[in-house]
Amino acid sequence: DAKTRGLNMISPYEQRMTERLKQRTLLEEELRFALERKQLSLHFQPQFELKSGKLKGFEALLRWHHPELGAVSPDEFIPIAEETGLIVPIGQWVLRSACETMQRILPLCPSSTIGVNISALQLIPEQFPDMVLETAMLTGLPLDRLELELTESELMTSLDSAQEQLTRLSEAGVRLALDDFGVGYSSLNYLRKLPFHRVKIDRSFIQDIGTSKDDELAEAIIRLVRQLHLDVVAEGLESYDQLMRLQEWGCDIAQGYLLGRPMPESELHAFIARNTTSFSEA
Ligand code: C2E
Ligand code: MG
Ligand code: MG
Ligand code: MG
Repeated sequence: DAKTRGLNMISPYEQRMTERLKQRTLLEEELRFALERKQLSLHFQPQFELKSGKLKGFEALLRWHHPELGAVSPDEFIPIAEETGLIVPIGQWVLRSACETMQRILPLCPSSTIGVNISALQLIPEQFPDMVLETAMLTGLPLDRLELELTESELMTSLDSAQEQLTRLSEAGVRLALDDFGVGYSSLNYLRKLPFHRVKIDRSFIQDIGTSKDDELAEAIIRLVRQLHLDVVAEGLESYDQLMRLQEWGCDIAQGYLLGRPMPESELHAFIARNTTSFSEA
């Protein structure tokens, strides 16, 4: 009797694991249909030049709204998309939609760029550069308005093929950004080997500004990147205090809730209209 009860008893740990597994399997199954059921959309977060206060670009961020599950965070579903290979068709859709939106808003904001996040897995098929160039051509977006954001930790597994693919794109005029800089392993190696135009400092460094010793670290990273003649972008800017410091340190571009949250295309027109003069003049 005691023995059977023992077997039937599920520990809270096992219960949590089972729940998590169920949730994951559910997300995976649902993600397969997300594209065709039109549950995916893009939001766009503005980027400002700190010296002039001018609106300089946008980052496209993927959103998944499921009718029953609600909004699922990219931090939750992107890894699933990567493990299942779904990131390849989803990534193509993201690129296409981002180029289309950018093509529409470019006349309102002529010198801006659109950043599109790319998973390292998308770089594996040899046709990746052709796919990108073709998409830009089909949508009519000039290649130098497109910026691909790559995360350092992911590039590691396939550095050689990534190098080839990215060099081709860079030579064609597409811009490249190293995303989440500072939290991976061999970031400096990437900077040496890959043709990046800019570096996006991970928001963990920005959010600690003014509250910890990391101030010096953020400042040093900015100086380092600028000495390599690359643009520096600060991610996750949330306070004026951080803004002042970043300006002082010579950071080129900033992006964060302080300056603008990610928004759907329908809100972009009004946002651009409100920001035709720089924030420093406002
Ligand atoms: P990321 O590329 O580093 O994007 C920046 C993330 O920081 C976004 O989260 C953005 O909403 C958030 N963020 C921006 N400003 C602030 C701020 O001031 N404070 C805070 N706390 N957060 C801020 P999001 O949209 O949840 O995306 C998370 C990650 O998912 C992205 O990080 C990116 O790695 C990935 N991701 C998003 N869209 C795509 C996509 O289309 N393809 C791929 N492969 N990955 C994507
Ligand atoms: Mg990014
Ligand atoms: Mg990232
Ligand atoms: Mg980032």
